[in-house]
Amino acid sequence: MCRLARASLIRMSQPPLALIDTHCHFDVDDFDADRVEVAARAWAAGVDTIIIPGYVAVQWSRLFEVCAAISRPRLLPAPGLHPCYIRQHEQAHLERLEQLLQNRPEIVAVGEIGLDYYVDEIKVPELKEKQLDFFRAQLALAMRYKKPVILHVRKAHQDVIRVLHEMRFSEGGIVHAYSGGIEEARHYAKRGFRLGIGGPLTYDQSRRLRAIVTAMPLEALVLETDAPDMIPLPHRIAGPGRTRNSPEFLPSIAAAMAELKNLPLAEVMAVTHAQSLAVLRLPPL
Ligand SMILES: [Zn+2]
Repeated sequence: MCRLARASLIRMSQPPLALIDTHCHFDVDDFDADRVEVAARAWAAGVDTIIIPGYVAVQWSRLFEVCAAISRPRLLPAPGLHPCYIRQHEQAHLERLEQLLQNRPEIVAVGEIGLDYYVDEIKVPELKEKQLDFFRAQLALAMRYKKPVILHVRKAHQDVIRVLHEMRFSEGGIVHAYSGGIEEARHYAKRGFRLGIGGPLTYDQSRRLRAIVTAMPLEALVLETDAPDMIPLPHRIAGPGRTRNSPEFLPSIAAAMAELKNLPLAEVMAVTHAQSLAVLRLPPL
């Protein structure tokens, strides 16, 4: 075998071991003082790509600035209107989102969008209705521009699944910080979604989540930190008083998944990396 052929065979049989943080609010001001240093540490820890979802229209320009400022890890924007900020959203923001989808080819997904029936103040009937309107409108945009979506769903899986079905949504995406049951998990997987798994996997009280991660095939799962929220347990213990989660902690979530599923860490890294690229239709870095 010639040297070149052997080299390419080795490359094929040993995919580069890297991680993708599929959900990190790296644009928020918690990271303003040391974003470059955190990015360098995340890169050194093996994180090669970070997806930054949007939440309010006023933050979108900052989101694009942050994505353009750092190249390692690759930072990719997923602008959208988050259901928890439903009071702030206006019709004009949907029009701006559509302009962004027309003009910004670097947009990887529409996010984070969805329904939140957990927070009392936003589940009053008129705000529930507004959440549904904005969710449907953003799914329609994702369909028009052929983008996957990043879903935020709390205590609302039935309605989210019903709306996806009614709209025949087929672009797929990620159900971030998955909190539903096993039947719903299977339903999302059938619809081309992956489940976003983060720090809660390392918490003692997350029995249901661990049962779902155990039961679902590895191919249905992707990793996320949701930084600056949801600090993984090992980093809480190691850093007393620490209040900020960070993309550099993603390896501990991969390790927790490997332990739980009784699989080699390298396999968890390779498969979740490949699934993140596939669902977001991204080329490898
Ligand atoms: Zn989020």
